[in-house]
Order: sequence, then C-alpha cells, then structure tokens
Amino acid sequence: MRDVAVVGAGPAGLRAATVAARAGASVVLVDGYHRAGGQYFRQPASAAHAASPIQAQGRRLIEEARSAGVEFRLGTSVWGAEPGRLYLSTMDTVGFRSLVVATGAYERVAAFPGWTLPGVYTAGAVQSLLKEHGVVPGTRILLAGSGPLLLVVAAELVKRHVPVAGVLEATRVVRTAARHPGRGVAGLWRQGERAREGLAAAARLSRARVPLRTGRGVVRAVGTTTVEGAIVARLDDKWRPVPGTERLVECDTIAIHYSLVPATDLLALVGATLTYASAKGGWVPVLTERLETTVPGVFGAGDCTGIGGAGMSLAEGELAGLAAAGHAHDDAVPATLRRERRFQQLYGALFAARPGLADLTTADTIVCRCEDVPRSAIDAAVAAGARTPAMVKSVTRCGMGPCQGRLCRPVVEQLTGAPPGEPPTARPPLVPVPFEAMRAC
Ligand SMILES: Cc1cc2nc3c(=O)[nH]c(=O)nc-3n(C[C@H](O)[C@H](O)[C@H](O)COP(=O)(O)OP(=O)(O)OC[C@H]3O[C@@H](n4cnc5c(N)ncnc54)[C@H](O)[C@@H]3O)c2cc1C
Repeated sequence: MRDVAVVGAGPAGLRAATVAARAGASVVLVDGYHRAGGQYFRQPASAAHAASPIQAQGRRLIEEARSAGVEFRLGTSVWGAEPGRLYLSTMDTVGFRSLVVATGAYERVAAFPGWTLPGVYTAGAVQSLLKEHGVVPGTRILLAGSGPLLLVVAAELVKRHVPVAGVLEATRVVRTAARHPGRGVAGLWRQGERAREGLAAAARLSRARVPLRTGRGVVRAVGTTTVEGAIVARLDDKWRPVPGTERLVECDTIAIHYSLVPATDLLALVGATLTYASAKGGWVPVLTERLETTVPGVFGAGDCTGIGGAGMSLAEGELAGLAAAGHAHDDAVPATLRRERRFQQLYGALFAARPGLADLTTADTIVCRCEDVPRSAIDAAVAAGARTPAMVKSVTRCGMGPCQGRLCRPVVEQLTGAPPGEPPTARPPLVPVPFEAMRAC
C-alpha cells in the first residue's frame, strides 16, 4: 500500500509524484512506457542520440523525482482499477490511499479516403521516431491537420534536411484569433515565448521554402500499396472541403494531426464524472479547485483534464500532488496555473475540432481501422436509430478493437451528432494485456 499512486510519468505525473514524495508521502509512479518523460519530455532511446534542451529539462524532472524517493514502475500499464487498487500489466496490483491520474492525451486523427495506406502517420508518431530514434519515416513529407505540433514537427524535419512538401493548418489562425472574445491576436502575442516559438518555426519553414497554408487540408491519400501523393483542398471555417479547390501534392508520407483528445479512460473506469468541453479537447473530468475528481481521493492533472500544454501540466501536477499527499493549502489558484488556463482558452478557440472533420470521409472510407468498419455501416446504424457512439459500437463493432475507439470516436461522435451527450464509458482491460496478467490478479 502506498500513500499516493500516480499514473503517467509525463510532466504532470512527474511533478505530482515529486511534490507528494517531498511532502512525506510514499509514492509509486506507473507508466506504460519504458522511459519516463511522457510526450513532451520524451527521452532518447540511447545515449547515442543527443538530448535536446527539452529532453535535458525532462531528465532533470526525472532525477528530481528519483531523488525525492519516488518508486518508478515503468513499462507497466494500468489496465484495471477498483477503489484503492490498480491492476498492472506486470501481473500484480498496487494499493493506494490517493490516486493522481496524469494519463495525458492522444492525437485526434481524421479518417479520409486512403488514410489506412502505409505512409500515413500521425505527426506525433513522426515526432516520436525523430526524438527517440533519430529515424525519418519518408523522403518527402506533407503535414496536415490542426495545432502547433504540425509546425514543431515540420521545423524539426527541416532542421534535419528532410524535404517537407508543405504544412496545411485547417484553421485560419489569425482570423480565428481575431474573433476570440477579449483576447484576439493580442492574446496570441501575449503568449510571449509560445508565440516566439511558433514564429521561429514558421520562419525556419519559410527560409526552407516550405509552403505553410491555413484553411487547407488533405482530402485523399493517393497510392495503391503506399502513399504516392495527397489531394489537398481549401477548407471552410467548419473544416468542410470546398468543392473545386482540390489539387495534387507529391509526397511519400502524410503526417496527420487534428490537435489532441484528453485520455480519460482510467478516470472513467474509476467512476469520475466526465463533462464535455470542446475547447478542452472533448470529455474531461469534473474537478474541484484542488483538482479532485468526483471520486474522493482521486485527482486529475495535465492533458487528461483538458489540453493545456506542458506548462499547465507541470502547474496542475504540483497542485494535485500536494492535495493527494494531504498537504494543506489554501484554495487560491496559483498565478502560473491562471496564466496557463488563459493559454488553454486560446488554444481551444483555435484548434478545437470542427464539424467538417467527419465530412472528409466518404461512404467507403474505413472509420474504425481496428474492426474495418466503413462510414456506410455507421450511416446505416445512425439511420436505424443509433444516436451515440456506444449504440453504433454495439451494432457495427466500431470502437471495439484494441484501440477501444481512441482513433475513431471523435469522427463517430460527429457522425452521430452525439456530444455533448453520453460520456464515454470504460471497462477493463484498458489496454491490451496478456491473459496471464489478468489471471494473475
Ligand atoms: C503525440 C504527442 C506529441 C506532442 N508533442 C508536443 C510538442 O512537441 N510540444 C508541446 O509543447 N507539446 C506536445 N504535446 C503535448 C504535450 O505532450 C502535453 O501538453 C504534455 O506533455 C502533457 O503532459 P501530461 O503529463 O499531461 O501527459 P503526457 O506527457 O502525455 O504523459 C502521459 C503518460 O501517461 C502514460 N499512460 C497513459 N495511460 C496509461 C496507463 N493506462 N497505464 C500506464 N501509463 C499510462 C503514457 O505512457 C504517458 O507517458 C504532444 C502530445 C502528444 C500526444
């Protein structure tokens, strides 16, 4: 039995574990990945790959947690939970008095004709290959979707002299920011360091003559056995393709990324109430000021509570870790967290999913690639009365495969017109685990 269990060793979980341990709690930190750091601080696979300044910052956070006495359980996925106990993929369980869920986010992808061809990646997958292994997945890469990660990955590719065919941002960023109540373009600018990072990435792309277009997206991947090109088109303000604007872009790799979706499956499994907040990326837990969920003793921190970036994850991890360790503090929201929440609002206004995402599918586009379910089957289920992703799932098996709907749910929600409606449910195993692991528990 530990005082505090933390799930997720990204910035939120690392910080939560460290402050809880420093406050005197016994703390176990569990992560399904073999290396701590999460997405932002993803560590290189070996010392042969030089660490970037961000990776070096991550290393310091990991060392702080170790020297605070945090017990690391890496390469260990949480697949089930009951009050006071987590079920682990390593064929054992761990007991806790308080739990901090810091499971991060995953990428929202769009389903479009050809998206299941080899050569279509998520931008995050391209970034992981680069950051962790120094591997470049193609020779001419097109990035498309929505969110700053597209710029970050494109700039990294250019730095490594990889030809980038273009960056297509679905949102018209400046126009949308100008409409954002009370913040507008000045709000973008007030983000200081982030605005500078974005401008630096855009300048690097411009120097390399990489086309950077807003209000554009990929509507079809072209190729027979692998990607040979992409049909791109103008998108309207709802991200619906504008007919007659299609053109071919030559590339052998397409990296897709339509911002992020909070990973709430463990929160749902422990019974935390979820609410729909489009600007935060989708379903998020209902939290008190001290980040406690509706389940006493269970806290949430970082992107799983709403997409907000690494800075917000660190600030929330600090608050949740202290609260989970029973450390008394007043209920005032720290200034850093207030600032990060302003960024979260602006990020949501710019990059939250628009209804046109589902319009990128055609009748025979596979929407659920785990179970091979085409859009036509989902449309038939909706026409027959299925009103939620859960109903579509029981009729078509859409979302029933190994990814448990992580990839297809955002598109299915749009096709059913579901959110805000029925929150997603979760049941064990949350991740694929050997049968032995379940039997041993
Ligand atoms: C693919 C991707 C790339 C990104 N790239 C950037 C970037 O370049 N720049 C930037 O500013 N932001 C980036 N972000 C956003 C950034 O990662 C987040 O804002 C920030 O890292 C969130 O921190 P976190 O601690 O909440 O979660 P994360 O850093 O995502 O960490 C969550 C951890 O939880 C673990 N986990 C999840 N479920 C389980 C489970 N059931 N059992 C055990 N462990 C589990 C995961 O393995 C992961 O290590 C990226 C996000 C993603 C998804």
